[in-house]
Amino acid sequence: MSLNTIISQGYLVQFDAHAASEHGHYFCGAHEIPGAWCPNCDKPLLRLLTLGMTDGRIRIPGALFEQVHLFFCCTCEVLSESLFYRILPDSSIELIQFGKGIIDIEAGYGLPYRGYPSHFPGTPVRLDALKEDEQEYITLSNRYDHSLPTREMHNRYRYIYNADHQVGGEPLLWQGHEYWEMFCPMCKKSLPLLATIGGGCLDSRGLFGMVGGQIVYTFCVECSVMGAVFLTT
Ligand SMILES: [Zn+2]
Ligand SMILES: [Zn+2]
Repeated sequence: MSLNTIISQGYLVQFDAHAASEHGHYFCGAHEIPGAWCPNCDKPLLRLLTLGMTDGRIRIPGALFEQVHLFFCCTCEVLSESLFYRILPDSSIELIQFGKGIIDIEAGYGLPYRGYPSHFPGTPVRLDALKEDEQEYITLSNRYDHSLPTREMHNRYRYIYNADHQVGGEPLLWQGHEYWEMFCPMCKKSLPLLATIGGGCLDSRGLFGMVGGQIVYTFCVECSVMGAVFLTT
């Protein structure tokens, strides 16, 4: 059985400087999106991905907003707890719940690493639809089983790991399919998956400075609330 997702078809997020900017899908980069401010760090939240809702393939049912922004903060206690924010009709956001407290970045131990930037280089992205066999591989990989998938399958689908970021569908989950569940702080319902962001970016240090980190994004359609949590293997 596959996991509950907002958008049933999965798409790999691929950096593509030449991607048609028709829908404005964009990875990282500086921003001035109202409300997207980390109170712990007193600086803008890290924008990881912006998705344009004019792209009918990934439209969120009932959404009034034109853009969905995936935010996080890797330089404070937002890292250690679930982050929840509401998306307002003008695509700005309002924080609802987050881990409070600062971290000594210069201690340079794990994440955040020393010299962690205020933002990462931005790039347009395209969304490549997962084929049926690719989605099946991901679903199998999430259900930890020594017999499936085979080493041969892992080799064949290595590019899915390399892509690192996914929107829609059941994504590869570093902690398997049983450990991602989040609940909406407003209506308390279990939240369907929206996207995952891995560590890959246009800065060689990566978003997390480690292998195996991942931010899982879930979304409550009724409350227009995004939930994000950082997971490691
Ligand atoms: Zn912060
Ligand atoms: Zn809700």
